[in-house]
Amino acid sequence: MADMDLNGLKIRILGAGIGGLTAAIALRQRGGDVAILEQAEAITEVGAGLQVSPNGVAVLRALGLEDQLASRAVRAEAVELRDYAGGKLVARLDLGLMPEDARYYFVHRADLIDLLAGAARDAGVKVRLLQKVAEVVPGSSPVARMANGAEAKAQLIIGADGLHSKSRSALNGTVAPFFTRQVAWRATVPNTMDHGPVAQVHMGPRRHIVTYPLRGGALVNMVAVQERQSWVEEGWHIADDPNKLRARFADFGGQARAVLNAVSDVRQWGLFRHPVAPIWQKDNVALLGDAAHPTLPFMAQGAVMAMEDAWVLGDALAKAPDINTGLAQYQQRRQDRVARVVDAASGNAWKYHLSFTPVRMAAHFGLRAASILAPG
Ligand code: FAD
Repeated sequence: MADMDLNGLKIRILGAGIGGLTAAIALRQRGGDVAILEQAEAITEVGAGLQVSPNGVAVLRALGLEDQLASRAVRAEAVELRDYAGGKLVARLDLGLMPEDARYYFVHRADLIDLLAGAARDAGVKVRLLQKVAEVVPGSSPVARMANGAEAKAQLIIGADGLHSKSRSALNGTVAPFFTRQVAWRATVPNTMDHGPVAQVHMGPRRHIVTYPLRGGALVNMVAVQERQSWVEEGWHIADDPNKLRARFADFGGQARAVLNAVSDVRQWGLFRHPVAPIWQKDNVALLGDAAHPTLPFMAQGAVMAMEDAWVLGDALAKAPDINTGLAQYQQRRQDRVARVVDAASGNAWKYHLSFTPVRMAAHFGLRAASILAPG
């Protein structure tokens, strides 16, 4: 069977998040005629930090972007699990013990999006803004219908349109995402507490806080998580009172306390997700990233899995005799690994939040991180 020639293949990618942009670069580098349709008026990212583990770095390296990442990111030295009250060390993954090319970075999401968007444009990807997709119709010439009535036809449509994906609905039916009973706060603060190049997970009963440095170590990124029975609002940008946040985590000590004390502006939101989609591809349409497999952030793998998807999709298409064989191979190569990561992230919610300290510590002797972070 001859490999498929992607040269000039008309590919439309829905969504200019980390997954969509990475896929656009990967497919354009293989010769595709690639355009991204993004609902927003600009490609920006207001969120805070992101951990890019070695499996994600391997994708950026393969795309020729690791140097750009390194120039904007902090190279991580370790991931540490700490007890919440006094900050006592429970477990440490020393990244210096990994092979030299297994690098791990902390990057501001805005910097990563900026890097990817620049690389996509430089590669010749067309980026079309204010294109809100309302419906995706699979077929031999699949179509994306916009909310304003316009249509985009292609030979291949990639749905990288996140949690509320219209592409997911087209392939799997429409089901609302479910609340995971976890609420998160995020903030960045000046690094006045001398936070080293380490991700610290501060674990407490029914709550945890993750901290790590950003932007040359000038800032510290904080994500705090608490279990809760219900949540009505959705969105990333609901402002909360820093004093209320401090009160909810009043028993946290160590470096977590120093970071909490420095918070002056904080956003809160409920964490929602879907199960991993049963169907990722059909009739010249494929899903990628959160559109296929949203996850709790407790393995720091959502964006990195989207990057892996993007690389494997390009590789599977290039090696296949036709589009739909390539898409089927893409799903087959990705589905089990992604399901394993999503399960591990959900398991971490349980482990991080156990009430009895010795049990919480013992649970971490079964840490599954190392096998997942390796380039897959
Ligand atoms: P998204 O980032 O959701 O992008 C989707 C894009 O599609 C957006 O630009 C959106 O505007 C656009 N879009 C949506 N609908 C439409 C439409 N109808 N028409 C046109 N465009 C549309 N992951 C990591 O790897 N490391 C981490 O450290 C990490 N930390 C996290 C911390 C928190 C607190 C959270 C919540 C998540 C974290 N993640 C992390 C997960 C990561 O943020 C997501 O998995 C990742 O952003 C998914 O990327 P995506 O491109 O698939 O989707």
